[in-house]
Amino acid sequence: MKATQKDAVPLRVPCPRCGKKTPWKGNAFRPFCSQRCQQFDLAAWASDEYRLPGENAPADDEGEGDG
Ligand SMILES: [Zn+2]
Repeated sequence: MKATQKDAVPLRVPCPRCGKKTPWKGNAFRPFCSQRCQQFDLAAWASDEYRLPGENAPADDEGEGDG
């Protein structure tokens, strides 16, 4: 068996917004696939800023047994 040294960093990464595989190198909107996804995420993040610090969100206690 011969060990092959491959790049640890994947050439393509799944867009955190839509999950579309997009090239990492040369991507100005990484880790997003396009500006559209990038803007979408930024908007969601910005909206969080408007949230008043006081309201506590209920903790999601997900206890799903997965074999
Ligand atoms: Zn995307």
